[in-house]
Parts: sequence; structure tokens; C-alpha cells
Amino acid sequence: QTIDLDGFVAQIIDLTEQYNDSHPINYESPAVSVAVCVDENRLKQVILNLIDNAMKYSESGQTINLRVDQQGENAVLAVRDRGIGIPLSQQTRIFERFYRVDEARSSFATGGTGLGLSIVKTLVEGMGGTITVSSQLGEGTTFTVSFPIVSESVDRATQRQVATRKWQ
Ligand code: ATP
Ligand code: MG
Repeated sequence: QTIDLDGFVAQIIDLTEQYNDSHPINYESPAVSVAVCVDENRLKQVILNLIDNAMKYSESGQTINLRVDQQGENAVLAVRDRGIGIPLSQQTRIFERFYRVDEARSSFATGGTGLGLSIVKTLVEGMGGTITVSSQLGEGTTFTVSFPIVSESVDRATQRQVATRKWQ
């Protein structure tokens, strides 16, 4: 499906507002919409997982920042928290299945299986995107998800071609 990433993220934030009253969410969207070709259900899972982590690993009351913007050929979603952060040495490992950073930190969070991010990475890459993390211990963490921008007019042209071919 082709969807506007910025509008979709806004919808997901509305959805989380129904059960989240611990962390305010701040959302910055681009002036011009960015269209991407993704599966809505999978993308929803990705965004909800990242928001869930951001909340779990930061004090309640701390604002979570989401931003969508265009960077060259890509539409980029950044999810930033001001939480406990992830040590540099572990930043590549968090995408592994069942990997959780230091159980001692679980006093902070309510536990988990360590599967969230491995699923997120699989889903993002399955849709042709990439995910990266940048984090500073004690300062916070940003996950950045990126998808190629598709132009809707190109899509329509392709559809027309397909339709034309049918009758040849
Ligand atoms: P699950 O998502 O399966 O309920 P989980 O949150 O522990 O469990 P992941 O989402 O895969 O598992 O995250 C792996 C680990 O990465 C977490 O245990 C946590 O230590 C660290 N982590 C993930 N997101 C953040 C974040 N925003 N801030 C700090 N640490 C994080
Ligand atoms: Mg998680």
C-alpha cells in the first residue's frame, strides 16, 4: 500500500493517547507529505514497539519525540526519548532475538521478552527500509526508521500501464 507516513504516524499517536497518560508525545511532521510503500499493519507494529520501548525505558512524565521528515530520497521517522540510554557496546546487540540490556535495569522497566526490536528490524527490512539506533547512556535514545519515498503519480502511471496492457 502507498500511504503518507506523516499522516499515518499521527493516527498511531492518537491511538496511543487512549491508553498512555504517563508520557506526553510531541510530534513534528513535515510541511509536505511523504508517501511510502509499506504494509500498514506491519508499520503500525513497528511504531507501537518503538513507542512502547521509549516509554518503558524513560521516567514517566518525560516527553517522547516523534518526527517525520524527508531526507533526500527517503522518508524518515525518528522516535526519541530522554530515558536511560543504551551503552555503545550493546547497541548492535539489541536487535538480536531475546537480547535485553543488563537485567539489573529491569527495576526500571516492567520486563519483556527481548523480542520487540528483532521483530521491528525484520518488519522494517522486509518492507525495504532500514533502522538505526543512536543513544547516549543516561541521556536518551533515538531510533531512526527510513523508507524510500514513492511518488504517487508514478504509481498511478504504472496502474494505467497495467490497465492498458489488459486490453491489448
Ligand atoms: P519486548 O519488547 O519483547 O517486550 P524488550 O523491550 O526488553 O522486550 P526489545 O524491545 O527487543 O525488548 O529491546 C531490547 C533491549 O534494548 C531492551 O531490553 C532494552 O534493554 C534495550 N532498549 C530498547 N529500547 C530502548 C530505549 N528506548 N531506551 C533504552 N533501552 C532500550
Ligand atoms: Mg520492547
